[in-house]
Amino acid sequence: MIIVLKPNLSSKEQSAVVKEIKRLGYRPHVMRGVARTVIGAIGDETAHQSLDVLRAWPQVESVTPIQKRFKLVSREAHPQNSTVKARNVVIGARPLVVMAGPCSVESEKQLMETAHAVKAAGAQILRGGAFKPRTSPYEFQGLGEKGLKLLAKARKETGLPIITELLSQDHAEMVAEYADILQIGARNAQNFQLLIAAAKTGKPVLLKRGLSMKIEEWLLAGEYVLSNDNPNLLFCERGIRTFETYTRNTLDLSAVPIIKQESHCPVVIDPSQGAGRADLVVAMCKGAVAMGADALLIEVHPNPKEAWSDGAQQLTLDGFSKLMTELKPFIAAAGRE
Ligand code: PEP
Ligand code: MN
Repeated sequence: MIIVLKPNLSSKEQSAVVKEIKRLGYRPHVMRGVARTVIGAIGDETAHQSLDVLRAWPQVESVTPIQKRFKLVSREAHPQNSTVKARNVVIGARPLVVMAGPCSVESEKQLMETAHAVKAAGAQILRGGAFKPRTSPYEFQGLGEKGLKLLAKARKETGLPIITELLSQDHAEMVAEYADILQIGARNAQNFQLLIAAAKTGKPVLLKRGLSMKIEEWLLAGEYVLSNDNPNLLFCERGIRTFETYTRNTLDLSAVPIIKQESHCPVVIDPSQGAGRADLVVAMCKGAVAMGADALLIEVHPNPKEAWSDGAQQLTLDGFSKLMTELKPFIAAAGRE
């Protein structure tokens, strides 16, 4: 249930409603906006008295049952767009944010060279996988904590906040110590215990869409983050598996306006995993910006031909710089900067 309170209530009048919600057996999640306060009440409506009784309270403007299974990520719960902050970078506001860097952190030289180049080209956040979810156990699994240390060094040198993948609950504390944003990969998108562990670190969480995940399931996975007291969630579309073989995945750009309608959380597009082809990344980025994406997550490598993972889809340093120039008119046309 979403309980919208009337404007200009005293805090005593507001907390009386919160207290009653608790008494009726629900968990209140209070969202204070500029003009008014909205309370999301979490609980099993089949097992408790309906919150409809709150309609009789003078403080309450409306009580809206949520037919949809997700609540806190929904636009009804938070009509304005929410923003997520990673150090000094805000995602979900007017500026389009570009996160770029290698698929995997391979060496100090590879990471530093990429970090300086993407920064010079205009990227605001550095990406790089230290723990890699590989389809085969015989493929490069990432440098682990050594990779995290290199990312921290790159952040120190460039000032760019870093995003890296959290692969296991066991690493939550360690990865959160280094990362500014935790990435939950496509293969783990419905690993609910991992989502809870990520949420509990308090760091922003970028949730990739699973390979065969319906949008409703993705929104519900995001709900695990918000319902564990972490409001800093980014939804990242990275392509879904279809029958098509020209591309590695089918990048579902319709997810952008759909998530924008259904949720207040920022939307990120990853055209690199999405297409799996470097030659398609520019076009996919233009499309994503036009559709209203808040940020892009792009793989960039100094020498993609020698990359230890995802070589076919990584842009060269030069290719990335050209992309940033070509994107400018699209960013302006989308009303962003
Ligand atoms: C990646 O970003 O390198 C990655 C492994 O992403 P995904 O989980 O979307 O495959
Ligand atoms: Mn990759």
